[in-house]
Parts: sequence; C-alpha cells; structure tokens
Amino acid sequence: MHKPIFSLEVFPPKRDAPIGTIYDALDGLEGLKPDFISVTYGHGTHADRTATARIANTIRQDYQIPTVAHLTALYSDTERIDEALDLFEKAKVGGVLALRGDHLDGCEPVGVFNHASDLITYIRERKPDLKILAACYPEGHTESESLDEDIIHLKAKVDAGASHLISQLFYDNADFYRFLEKARAAGITVPIEAGIMPVTSAKSVYSMASKNNTRIPKAVTAMLDKWGDDLPSLRAAGINFAAQQITNLVANDVDGIHLYTMNRAATARRIWHDVQPLFSNNLEQ
Ligand code: FAD
Repeated sequence: MHKPIFSLEVFPPKRDAPIGTIYDALDGLEGLKPDFISVTYGHGTHADRTATARIANTIRQDYQIPTVAHLTALYSDTERIDEALDLFEKAKVGGVLALRGDHLDGCEPVGVFNHASDLITYIRERKPDLKILAACYPEGHTESESLDEDIIHLKAKVDAGASHLISQLFYDNADFYRFLEKARAAGITVPIEAGIMPVTSAKSVYSMASKNNTRIPKAVTAMLDKWGDDLPSLRAAGINFAAQQITNLVANDVDGIHLYTMNRAATARRIWHDVQPLFSNNLEQ
C-alpha cells in the first residue's frame, strides 16, 4: 500500500528568543517519527547559516530524525552559499530545500541567484550527490501572473535537479488537487508534499493569507467568526480542521504531508494523534 511521506517544519528561534525554545519544541515533537524535519533559513546572514545547520545537526544526532535544511539565495553570493552548503554537509542533512527567498523592501539583491532554479543548478554542480528539494505554490506564487505560468517555472526547477517538492500552505484541498493535476500534466513527476498549517489565531491566518494570496474558504472564516478571541476553542477547531484536511488528502493518495509546526509541539502532537493511523509505518511508539 502507498505510504505517504510525513514531514515537519521548524524554525530557528528569533534573535531575541532564547535558543532553548527550539529544543523545548523538539522535545515536544519526540515520538512523532516523521520521515524528516526541515529547518527554515533566513535571508542569508551568518546567523542564519549557522543556526539552521546547528539545529539540523541536533535533530539528527539527538533525535535520530533525518533533516532537510532550507536555503535562500537572493541575498547571497556563491561564497555564502558554499559556506552554508559546507555547514549543511557537516551536519549530515538529508537534503537542501533550495529557495530564492522573498524580496526585502529597500534591499538590493546580490544578483547571482535571481530564481530558485539558479540555486538548484549551482547546488547540482557543487554537490552532485545532495538531494535537492524545492517549493511549489498550489494557488500560484504571488509574483506570477497565473498558476500556469508558475508551473512552467516549477518545471524548470525540477529539470534543474529538484527531486521533491513541498507546497505552500492552503486551506482548500480543491486548490491543491487542481494544482496537482496541472503539475502532472506539465510533466512534473517528482513527489509533491502538501503543506498544512494549522489555524491557531485569526491574526496569523489573515497575515499568512495576505502575504501568500491564500484563499480563505468559508469553513475557515466560519471557524474564525465562531471562536473569535477564544483561543483554546479556536486552536481545538484548527487541529480538527487540519486533521480533516490531511485525512482527505491521504484518502486521495497524495505523496505526503508537510506540517508547518510553527514550533508549536502540542498542536503538532494532537494532529498527529488524530491522523497517525493513516501513516501506517510511522505509528507512534
Ligand atoms: P522561485 O521558484 O524563484 O519563484 C519565485 C517567483 O519567480 C515565482 O513567481 C516564479 O514563478 C518566478 N520564477 C521562477 N523562475 C523564473 C524564471 N526563470 N523567470 C521568471 N520568473 C521565474 N522563505 C525563507 O525566507 N526561508 C525559508 O526557510 C522558507 N521556506 C519555505 C518553504 C516552503 C515549503 C515554501 C513554499 C516557501 C518557503 N519560503 C521560505 C518562502 C519563499 O522564500 C518565498 O515564497 C519566495 O518568494 C519564493 O521562493 P521560491 O524558491 O519559490 O522562488
């Protein structure tokens, strides 16, 4: 039987937060047995490079879970990328999620890596054995004129060497299925994991949706209207909603589920508790 991939995403603590918060989150995730945990990356400062590599190394060594390191390139030159790749190699990451990264207001990109495909081509040359992952956007990237145009660029990332895709969050599975159909029709055959971000507050839903042009379906608006500022009830409803999304996706044979944990271990655990029978070989011990 087809076993979907199950992966988690964590981020290094913000600069003003104690480093221990990430270890609390990782301790809280213990027992979930994901196929891998991915660690996000900032805009390319020295702190980004070392924090992502350090946390990936800890996850592999102390928790025995394979890792994927994210890497953004818009504000990096080849020297910085080499440094990051060397750190990731030392941390024995299982793969790199190669990203362009977002444009920052008032900051001029370095001009070496203008698209994720440039970074993928570079990594393929520098580290031919390293697994390369890339991002995809079920509702189209905000800078694309259309989903079709975005999928043409996605195909270029796969042709350059990305062998695994992870999607941006979405709240309506119909949007993911439509994207999947178009991606497969465009000749993209690599595994595509569906990105799920649990609803935890109205503020985060609206800010993520406006940043990423994510459609908020009626079911989510109704949930936000009903629970408003009652955060415990909203979180419980959000967990339920995410578990239902995952159940439907797995029933429709998706390649995998990537859970954006937002470092909230309790939420991730409760979702896992609800969906773990779907990931038969990953049963919690
Ligand atoms: P690209 O693939 O380069 O695409 C960006 C835009 O350019 C798209 O509209 C695309 O259609 C277009 N495009 C691509 N190639 C071409 C071309 N050759 N010619 C013309 N147009 C082109 N951000 C972080 O800062 N840190 C993270 O750790 C991080 N992790 C992420 C993980 C996932 C799973 C996802 C989905 C996103 C993540 N992001 C992260 C956000 C990401 O950096 C932004 O979405 C960014 O704006 C685009 O990055 P990309 O790699 O998808 O870019």
